[in-house]
Amino acid sequence: MIEDTIAAIATALGEGSIAVVRVSGPDAVNTVAMVFKSKYNLREAKSHTVQYGWIVDPINERILDEVLVTVMKGPRSFTAEDVVEVSTHGGIVAVKSVLEVILRNGARLAEPGEFTKRAFLNGRIDLAQAEAVIDLIRSKSDRAFQVARKQAEGDLSKQIIPMRQKLIELLAHVEVNIDYPEHDVDEVTTGVIREDCGVILKEVEGLLDRANEGKILREGIVTVIVGRPNAGKSSLLNALARENKAIVTDIPGTTRDIVEENISLSGIPLRLLDTAGIRETSDIVERIGVERSHDALNEADLILLVLNHHEPLHEDERKLLKQLKERSTLIVINKIDLPGLLEINEVEQDYNSEQIVYLSAKEGSGIESLERAVSGLFFSGEVESGDLTYVSNARHITLLYQTKKSLEEAINASEESVPIDLIQIDIASSWESLGQILGDAAGDSLLDQIFSQFCLGK
Ligand code: GDP
Repeated sequence: MIEDTIAAIATALGEGSIAVVRVSGPDAVNTVAMVFKSKYNLREAKSHTVQYGWIVDPINERILDEVLVTVMKGPRSFTAEDVVEVSTHGGIVAVKSVLEVILRNGARLAEPGEFTKRAFLNGRIDLAQAEAVIDLIRSKSDRAFQVARKQAEGDLSKQIIPMRQKLIELLAHVEVNIDYPEHDVDEVTTGVIREDCGVILKEVEGLLDRANEGKILREGIVTVIVGRPNAGKSSLLNALARENKAIVTDIPGTTRDIVEENISLSGIPLRLLDTAGIRETSDIVERIGVERSHDALNEADLILLVLNHHEPLHEDERKLLKQLKERSTLIVINKIDLPGLLEINEVEQDYNSEQIVYLSAKEGSGIESLERAVSGLFFSGEVESGDLTYVSNARHITLLYQTKKSLEEAINASEESVPIDLIQIDIASSWESLGQILGDAAGDSLLDQIFSQFCLGK
């Protein structure tokens, strides 16, 4: 039973037109009412209405800000408790002073993620949905956002719940067989086990097959652009950035001289890595032997090797072509606006046509073919296909693998006339692993670990 009332600033700290203090708990309305001056009585406000007024410090009657206060009574709120949101003026001063006076009048400062944690503890959402809220906040591309949104709505949970239901029914069947052996014959039961576990195993495998796609959508494809000086690497980077105005971050790495840019290529997020060292000399081929550029290449999910259409192949490039063919590499033949002097037939010896892309970074033409090639490399189906249920969270993936293992063991055991009560253990543990995705019987330390990843006020 949650008894205290929490408060935090829910918006990002910085300059903006408004900021929001969120208060949740049994005393939310009362606490805000103590510092709210208006011609309306907040304590009598209907749920899901907005009141206009001022936040006033009750000690000295000083007006702190002119605000709009939204009242959302539980259970129809984010936390399923009474929630009050105070919209203050933007900037840091107003919102901080409003938070401070609310904290002095009965609320306590929320921990990071505590609002979402309450939504989970109050049973409004399951753990998989709560975790999707983190993904929502962090998503760097439209598509990653859509995937997280679907999961926050419970899409993954909707697939897992029926699987668990089926496993429970199977466990009941097995239980009856163990308690009343005369009731059923073992062969019938093992047959049912094989069949039911087989069906669920297929579904689990389906989710796992596409898990990598989910991870990519969430975290981005780590991409490194390589090529000789003047091949057009920077121009390609600029063309990509221009095509996709969605440059979300530009984080100069502090420890490893890695510059990272996030761009979105028709909804597929690319994390372009560029080592500062490589930038300096700009001759990556010379530096391939250097450890740092090796690191960047080793980390890469995708390598874009840029070749100049207007020049014959260089020895270094021949070496790179051989060296990179075992990796996820796309050959970008740049400067197709200029006459071709490049020996394309040599490139074609090691790379198939899906891996070779022709474009002009300068004119910005051919970028779509790069998009197609990238999605062809990483996605089994069309990226824009409707089904957005991807398992993207590492914790969920691990649990799905555990489920898969238990189900396979149950199936194998049922084929080898292992006693039914032993098989039952495998089925029960697959049921448990699936339950952990939803947060069934999740321990405090796991919850702390998950919710501490949130920002304050969420
Ligand atoms: P980097 O050294 O690989 O980063 O190459 P840059 O991007 O700096 O490009 C080298 C030169 O090639 C610059 O003068 C660019 O304007 C030119 N360049 C890049 N892409 C193209 C292209 O598609 N067509 C033409 N004609 N010139 C290009």
